[in-house]
Amino acid sequence: MRVFFTNLGCKLNQAEVDRLSRQFLAAGHTLASNLADAELHVVNSCTVTHLAARDSRKTARRGHRLNADMKTVLTGCYATEAPGEAAGLEGVDLLVTNDAKDDLLTRVHEAFPDRVPGSTSAEKSLDIPYVPLDFGLSRALVKVEDGCNMRCSFCIIPSTRGRQRSRAVEEVVDEVEALAQGGYREVVITGVQISEYDHDGRRLFDLVHAVLERTTVPRLRLTSIAPWKFDDRLLELWQDPRLCRHIHMSLQSGCSATLKRMRRPYSADQYRALVEKIRSHIPGLALTTDVIVGFPGESDHEFAESLEFVREMAFARPHIFTFSPRKGTHAETLPDHVQHQTKKERTAIMRELATESERAFWRSRLGENVCVIWEERRGDHWTGLTDHYIRVFAPVDGSTESLVEGELAACTLDSLREDGVSATPVHDSDPELRELSAIRADLSASQPTSSLRILP
Ligand code: SF4
Repeated sequence: MRVFFTNLGCKLNQAEVDRLSRQFLAAGHTLASNLADAELHVVNSCTVTHLAARDSRKTARRGHRLNADMKTVLTGCYATEAPGEAAGLEGVDLLVTNDAKDDLLTRVHEAFPDRVPGSTSAEKSLDIPYVPLDFGLSRALVKVEDGCNMRCSFCIIPSTRGRQRSRAVEEVVDEVEALAQGGYREVVITGVQISEYDHDGRRLFDLVHAVLERTTVPRLRLTSIAPWKFDDRLLELWQDPRLCRHIHMSLQSGCSATLKRMRRPYSADQYRALVEKIRSHIPGLALTTDVIVGFPGESDHEFAESLEFVREMAFARPHIFTFSPRKGTHAETLPDHVQHQTKKERTAIMRELATESERAFWRSRLGENVCVIWEERRGDHWTGLTDHYIRVFAPVDGSTESLVEGELAACTLDSLREDGVSATPVHDSDPELRELSAIRADLSASQPTSSLRILP
């Protein structure tokens, strides 16, 4: 079948869609470049907010409305949170809840036996292609754990993703190396709460250490780290320039009283102390976070306290969410829900601060020589991402004409743009390059030289 995958929600969902796409390719199906061309639509849904659940319903119906013969498979957190409603949606032919998602390909072949490619037989293991996917990202996402044992009062994820569980270190190391050999320059380690990673007593430190030691991946990025479970041993791993200077550590509120009602196991002071420690070990770190505005009981004073704390933390990119009560969560039952208009006003204020904070971080890195993964050419510019999560742009001209998608190359961060930073390729006559060469030497020692290049 020609299969089209739609991912809604988080990086973990995206990692699962990438993995499923590879399994379907290995089984002999093809990936459609757009929904209209597809015979099968797989929707990996989200329900983190009521808006996400609504979008999941709309997306699930889309295939059938485009082409009544198209089959639709609905999986993911919305499908798991409301299986009855989800299965009854117009056009949904198969529902696969999160606990069965790893077997989705088998479920599809069982549900549509006349659409099983001749080459696929149950006992034959699939030869998964780890090369960059058509229409995929230039960075590969690798899921290392799933589920959550926490009970933050606003969160529905534990009920849709179940108890925390982790993949074996060896399995992850093999997948990362296969992706590196397949041509990926960056791998993103993802999960629900990767700092909860625990396989046979091996923790996140052991996993990241093994990946850095035993794979040739040029760049490794970590996703969500929990402020209540930070293993200090991790700090030493950032001596390896392949580990991105980027940590995402959800704050949720800068007010300790609000954090208490959110059932977050830390205070604003504890969060601040941890940030100071991390920043003292990782110069140039991009600290990103999530903040909820308008949580039940959030007074003007509590909001002001949270706002001031977010300002003080000088995050590289704070993601701001307006509180949205989720059915079945403790927060839904709390008193003193904040008025809609007030939530809207506070969100606007916090988002304005977030934009200032992000630009201030960009400004603080101007003049730096960094390695960029050039992801794509957009019109007359190349665009890419630095290890500290800055979106950079370089004009298509003589010095960038030879760039290729997914390439890792050195450049200098020059000036601010509305949407990121303008960068200039570093030329090998630049003395600063020697410093970068030191980094390059490390990187190229672990992978073929062609992947990191100083532009002519
Ligand atoms: S740590 Fe809290 S917010 Fe994060 S997934 Fe678990 S319950 Fe949800």
